[in-house]
Amino acid sequence: MQYQSKLPNVSISIFSVMSALANKHKAINLSQGFPNFKSDQKLIDLVSKAMNSGFNQYAPMPGSLELRDAIANKYDLLYNTSYHPETEITVTAGATQAIYTIISAFIRPNDEVIIFRPAYDCYEPAIELNGGKVISVQLEAPFYKVDWNEVREKINNNTKMVIINTPQNPSGSVFSEGDMLRLQELTKKTDIIVLSDEVYEHIIFDGEKHQSVCLFSDLKSRSFITASFGKTFHNTGWKTGYCCSPKELMAEFRKVHQFNVFSVHHPTQKALADYLNEPNHYLDLSSFYQEKRDLFLSLIQDSRFKFTASKGTYFQVLDYSNITQEYDVDFAKRLTIEKGLAAIPLSVFNDFGLDNKVLRFCFAKTDDTLKQAAEILNSI
Ligand code: PMP
Ligand code: GLN
Repeated sequence: MQYQSKLPNVSISIFSVMSALANKHKAINLSQGFPNFKSDQKLIDLVSKAMNSGFNQYAPMPGSLELRDAIANKYDLLYNTSYHPETEITVTAGATQAIYTIISAFIRPNDEVIIFRPAYDCYEPAIELNGGKVISVQLEAPFYKVDWNEVREKINNNTKMVIINTPQNPSGSVFSEGDMLRLQELTKKTDIIVLSDEVYEHIIFDGEKHQSVCLFSDLKSRSFITASFGKTFHNTGWKTGYCCSPKELMAEFRKVHQFNVFSVHHPTQKALADYLNEPNHYLDLSSFYQEKRDLFLSLIQDSRFKFTASKGTYFQVLDYSNITQEYDVDFAKRLTIEKGLAAIPLSVFNDFGLDNKVLRFCFAKTDDTLKQAAEILNSI
C-alpha cells in the first residue's frame, strides 16, 4: 500500500524518548514534565465521590457547567475580567487538545503562524497538518527575550495566528507587561488570532505577576487562552484542561471540538469544580515551586553547569558548555545512560536543531529526588 505521510519529519516526541530511556536505565527522570508526588487526597476523594454519585455518563459538550462557572470565577478573582461560562469557556482533554482544536478551527493551507523558539512541541505538527506555515522567531539563551521588531517584520497579510506561551516551556522565561503591550500594538487592527498558552499561569516566581492576554482588552478580543489542570493540581495523567475566548471565536472552536472529542471525562470535571472554588489550591503553587527551584539551584551552585534562575514553569535550563561541546541530544542520552539522570535537550524545540548546549530539568520532584539529581550534576 502506498501512502504519503502528512508529517514526514515528525518522530516520537522527545518526552516519550527520554522517559523511556530513563526507565530502561533506571535513571532519575527530570526529563518529561510531571510531578513525582501525589495530587491532594481531597481532590482524589472528590473524583471517587463523583463516580459513586453517578457522574459517569457524557458531560455536556462544552464541559460541566459547574466547572465552567468555577473557571469564570477564577478569571474574575485573579484578573478582574469576565468569560461567560455558557459561551466563552470550554473544558478540554488537556491543553494539548485545546491547542490542536484551535489550530484546526482557524488555520487553512498557506496561512502563516508565528511561534517563538524554543517552542513546545505540539504547535508545529498541528499547524502543518492543517496546511499552515510555521514562521519562527528564535529567542536567544540565556534570557530568551523577544525582539518585537523581528516579529513586526514577520507579520504580513498571510499571518493568521501568533502563538505565545508565558511562563514559557522549555526556557522558564516570562513575558513582561511591556511584551504584552507590544504584541497588542502589533496585532491591533489586524485579523490575527492570538493563541496564548498559559498552562503555567500559577507557577511564576520572584513576585512577578502573570501577564495573561485577558488583562489587555484588545488582545483579549482576539485571543484564546489554553490552560491545564494537570500542571496546576499535580495530575498530568488526568488530561483535563480548558480554553477561553470571546464567544464568536469559541463558537468556531466548538464546531471542531464536538467532533474530535465531543466531551471530557465527567467525574474529574465534577471534582475539579468543587476543588477550584478554593483559591488557595492554586494561589499557593508559585511559592511551593519557588522553594523547589531554590533548593535545586542552591544544591548545584558549585557545579560546572551555568544557569539563570527560571522565572516560571517547573523547568530549569542548565548550560553545560563548560563541561563538553557534545550535541545536546547526545549529551542528554549519555547523562541518562552513564550517569543515571535524564533531562530534555533544547535543540529539538529549535529550527534546524540549533544547539546552545542547554538541557531542561524538571524540578516538580520530591526534595529527596532533587538532592539525588544534584549529587549527579555536581559529580560531572
Ligand atoms: N503547553 C505547554 C507549554 C505544556 O508544557 C504542556 C504540557 N506540559 C501542554 C501545553 C499540554 O498540557 P496537557 O498535558 O494539559 O495537554
Ligand atoms: N508537557 C510535558 C513536558 O514539557 C510533556 C508532555 C508530553 O509528554 N507530551 O515535559
